Amino acid sequence: MVVPIVDREEIWRVLRDLVAIPSVNPAFPGGTGEAEVAAYVRNYLESNRIRCIEQPVSEGRSNVIGMLPGTRAGRTLLLEAHMDTVQTTGMTIEPFGAKTASGRLYGRGACDTKASLAAMLVVLGTFARSGRKPTIGVHLAAVVDEEYRYAGVARLAQAIEAGELRYEAAIVGEPTGLSRVVAHKGCVRFRIEARGVAGHSSDPSKGVNAIEQAMEIVRYLREVIEPGYEALRHPLVGPPTHCIAQIEGGDAPNTIPGACTLTIDRRTVPGEEPLGVWKRMKTDLERFARETPGLALAVHEPFIIDYAMEIRTDESVVGRLAQAVNLVKRGTAEHGAAYGTDASKLARVGVPSIVFGPGDIRQAHTDDEWVELAEVCAAADALAALIANYGNEEGEEETA
Ligand SMILES: [Zn+2]
Repeated sequence: MVVPIVDREEIWRVLRDLVAIPSVNPAFPGGTGEAEVAAYVRNYLESNRIRCIEQPVSEGRSNVIGMLPGTRAGRTLLLEAHMDTVQTTGMTIEPFGAKTASGRLYGRGACDTKASLAAMLVVLGTFARSGRKPTIGVHLAAVVDEEYRYAGVARLAQAIEAGELRYEAAIVGEPTGLSRVVAHKGCVRFRIEARGVAGHSSDPSKGVNAIEQAMEIVRYLREVIEPGYEALRHPLVGPPTHCIAQIEGGDAPNTIPGACTLTIDRRTVPGEEPLGVWKRMKTDLERFARETPGLALAVHEPFIIDYAMEIRTDESVVGRLAQAVNLVKRGTAEHGAAYGTDASKLARVGVPSIVFGPGDIRQAHTDDEWVELAEVCAAADALAALIANYGNEEGEEETA
């Protein structure tokens, strides 16, 4: 079908509206939740006569899914974007001012990821108003809680796994500068506790200093574990990494510390199972403790795990999206990313997923977050072309 023209003014208006509505994740300072944005999304879709369902996730927090039917039953593309943002602490602009200047729109969430959400919404609205159905059906899932615990996409993935919803591919909206993230890392985060023996610090020989034990662990991780990462290097996302992100230890200035806890953020590459990575590290650390006189430690269960993701480059959505983007911007590419997204949770339930959207990831979570309006429009044009052409090629002529 002919690619419908997406109205720039409408994209700007919807993006301004979305940014002006606070939707800070409730896990963060000043967190208001996503309810008001969800109501806006629902109202936009319904006023364009697009059927909507809500997926309750937790008290007062629901995903909204808009459903644009296609002419070919059983084929559906998923567009997914999160509605929550990080906190506004320390911002140097009005977080919800939604001011525009020099072609940019400023505010919390402008780039991450309300720009993607606005582009997706207006594309769906445009198709619905055009009165012509695309070959492929399209669902837009606006989800909660991407910035903290991924509860929104987890609920969506559950419905997919249960067979209530079926998608042949997904585009996950995040600021990629219109490039396509086809692989990204996962993570496993856990704590390692060095266990010493507390005592009066006037005679350090009478105790076991847990902070000094923790130093041994840090050294072991750097000198023995880290060099093994290179062999696991992935062509798109690079090698695994770990970061000792937090350290806590000691009770008082005159006491030999009896405990010291390290928090590790280990980033995984596609092919690594986060829980398996944790188990291996636990085994290695326990062996190290047995071989090191005086060292006692405990490796705690992970408190966060997230999966890495990778889409096979011969999945048809990869080429289709590249083609659609090439119509609006030259020089974009497929690449890997070190950060995590909702895409890995969709990939885990069998939906080939690509991360794509307007804006630069370097602008996400910043003190003066902004997005280039022209790029939001280009993303919308690319999504419109993707949908209009999806399933229209050889032997797949429209049936209605
Ligand atoms: Zn995001």
